[in-house]
Amino acid sequence: MENNTLDPQDWDDLKEIGIKVFTDMIDFQKNVREREIWKEPSMSVRSIISNEKLPIGPQDLNEIYDQIKTNLLPYNKGNIHPKFWSWVQSTGTPSSIIAEMIIAGMNADVATGNHGPMYVEEKVINWLKEIFDFPKDGHGVLVSGTSVANLCGLLAARNNYEDSIVRNNGIFNLNKQFIVYSSTETHSCVLKAADIIGIGKNNVRLINVNSTFQINSVALEEQIKSDLAQDLIPLCIVGNIGTVNTGAIDDIDSLSEIANRYKIWLHIDGAFGAFAYLVDEYRSKLRSINKADSLSFDLHKWISLPFGIGAILFKDKNKQRNAFVEHPNYLEQNDEGLASGFDPIFNYSIEMSRSFKALKIWMLMKEKGINQISSVIKKNLDDIKYLEQLILNKPDIFELACPVTLNVICFRFIDPKLQENMLNAINKKIVILLQTRGYAVISNAYINKKYYMRLANVNHRSIRSDFDDLLKAIITLIEECKKQIL
Ligand SMILES: *Cc1c(COP(=O)(O)O)cnc(C)c1O
Repeated sequence: MENNTLDPQDWDDLKEIGIKVFTDMIDFQKNVREREIWKEPSMSVRSIISNEKLPIGPQDLNEIYDQIKTNLLPYNKGNIHPKFWSWVQSTGTPSSIIAEMIIAGMNADVATGNHGPMYVEEKVINWLKEIFDFPKDGHGVLVSGTSVANLCGLLAARNNYEDSIVRNNGIFNLNKQFIVYSSTETHSCVLKAADIIGIGKNNVRLINVNSTFQINSVALEEQIKSDLAQDLIPLCIVGNIGTVNTGAIDDIDSLSEIANRYKIWLHIDGAFGAFAYLVDEYRSKLRSINKADSLSFDLHKWISLPFGIGAILFKDKNKQRNAFVEHPNYLEQNDEGLASGFDPIFNYSIEMSRSFKALKIWMLMKEKGINQISSVIKKNLDDIKYLEQLILNKPDIFELACPVTLNVICFRFIDPKLQENMLNAINKKIVILLQTRGYAVISNAYINKKYYMRLANVNHRSIRSDFDDLLKAIITLIEECKKQIL
């Protein structure tokens, strides 16, 4: 038999194992509540994996899957579990297992070409524009996550400065320094983006925040004026919808006014928070969202899709194109045939070859509808408000870092008899024991140098009683943690 290919020798065998794996993975999500949320990979598992030699010959797929069942599935990260509220991690949806299967099966590259997936990519970008009330002239692109989306936003600001002067001649020929503005609460990937595009981390002005962790717009404007007076170039303001520590939402109205007044690019990092726009009570607060020149958000956070999917929208398609367009002659566009139709997507993004990620969004939106997606977001918001109330009911043992304004809550155990360093250590121990005992996974935030327990709720599987359970578990751990630390 001719076997010089990566296709299986026996297609029926492959189908059999494929069907088994597929049903197992659906059950893996279906039964996740009954399993331990997290356990540390055992020493034997670690050594088995790390000692594996580069495979020279073939191994039976059934054996490989057995190894996955024994060595990987029990040591999953935990974020598909209903009691996972750490960082901001998507829960995943069972039907996107099907989407991922179709994406791999089609294996379409959506950089270029006249083929079905390109129409779905275009449709999904238009749906996202519609969700955020972006103008018809706007456009966007799917990327791997908000870090890359923010990078694209800053790059577009830079490349649209004075007829692409930097794009063509490089940052060193500018003779002046670009300045980026954001708040002290901004995600570190914005600093990284400033570094990557040659602006430098020290040229990101981290403006002070008010008591609810929103950027101080007055201080921002003063800083801009002072930079202008020194002949620096205010290039971009990065506003936040949902800061990573506390979920703060900057005053986007006033950022957009300032950006307009000084002709500065306004980029918004709405990694998880942007989708609060789907919920009535946030819609008016976020009404200026579509005034941003660019808006980043993840679909692998609040929209629950499997990892590797974020997006950026631009108010002006021409500016997006201007920032990324290239015309390699090996990718010539024709009037007919496969290389016809769409303006290649690589003219709108950093990447060239890309997977057909749009299918995941397209399928989820069709399957559930925007109403169901919004009502999950509303539930997440309500549940965090509920937890906030439980905490406020116990002022003798808990303190909030600030009132809840989105889906994030930061709180800590307090005891007036204990010093701050002891409180930090006890709260940290509580977070660790919750994880190692398998009660729940939450993370932390340092706010004014104090250690706070932190939950970000984007978990569509959580139910109200999970939050009662969490607080009960924390209360039972307090005494034990005090004993260990004091
Ligand atoms: C998660 C997050 C990012 C980074 O997004 P990735 O998808 O992890 O690249 C940026 N900003 C904020 C506010 C975030 O929460």
